[in-house]
Amino acid sequence: MKELIRSLTECFGPSGHEEAVRALIRRELPRGAETRVDAMGNLIVHRTGAAGGRRIMLAAHMDEIGIVVTHVDQKGFLRFGNVGGVLSMPLTGGRVRFAQGITGVIGLEKLEDPSRVPSLDKFYIDVGAPGPADCPVRVGDVACFNRDFEEVGARIVAKAMDDRIGCAILLEVMKELGRSPHDLYFVFTVQEEVGVRGAGTSGYGVEPEIALAVDITLTGDTPECAPMAVALGSGPAIKIKDSGMLAHTGVKDWLLRTAEAGGIPCQREVLVRGTTDASAIQVSRAGVPAGCVSIPTRYAHSPSEMVDYGDVEAVVQLLLRALAEPVDIG
Ligand SMILES: [Zn+2]
Repeated sequence: MKELIRSLTECFGPSGHEEAVRALIRRELPRGAETRVDAMGNLIVHRTGAAGGRRIMLAAHMDEIGIVVTHVDQKGFLRFGNVGGVLSMPLTGGRVRFAQGITGVIGLEKLEDPSRVPSLDKFYIDVGAPGPADCPVRVGDVACFNRDFEEVGARIVAKAMDDRIGCAILLEVMKELGRSPHDLYFVFTVQEEVGVRGAGTSGYGVEPEIALAVDITLTGDTPECAPMAVALGSGPAIKIKDSGMLAHTGVKDWLLRTAEAGGIPCQREVLVRGTTDASAIQVSRAGVPAGCVSIPTRYAHSPSEMVDYGDVEAVVQLLLRALAEPVDIG
């Protein structure tokens, strides 16, 4: 599974430009899988259930945060805006990669007050162009961070772990899942980072009876960080609340019960800032009972997002157990 995570995370896919990720996921699907792509670009994989089950949608987003070029100056330097929640702090000296494979280095202007975190408009990108005429990049071109996947002890680090790790987990569950009573829809969504947009349309199209997002969450286990009762290596985080939704209590309890019955240690997640695809699916059509299984992640929205590999395996085990049996959400 690590090689799959490597290729998924190293793939180019800022929001709205998920083509390469979608193509890679298609190549990894089980033979003969029934698939369709909707108008937004969501990849929807359907697996028919044995009988007597529910229509369950699992969502993981293919897109990652990135930058979009807004201006090329007289010396060939690029100015850019954000695609999704790009943080200033990790940028300086970093590199970005454009779709055509061009690399850019992120530089920072001289600051009047270096003690304050600079806004994005103080940064520029240097693609080695001597002037605008020779610049290989145009206004509107998008780029992702350029950083390799690496193993660090029991942890793995990459750009776009948010949410390629969720995509890898869905693929693994699809491969490993035996007989299931449920009609399952594995949905690889687009444009989550710019406002859970793909989840809204795919949730409407699939019309699930129950929905689960599989996405990352933050942790409270690094020096002097904001308090949060989630740590790396302590198992899947079962969503109770985030800033975009209250998990359906029946769905949350189903996941907690499944973890307990399987002897899978898990954590209860209350995320103060941020949300997932589940928030959009929950309010699609006349409403859908929705929850979320989260992968604890350090350094989210930086080029080095870190997860614990044991947590990843435990999320797969939890989903396999949950989907193999009839579901009671009250
Ligand atoms: Zn995410």
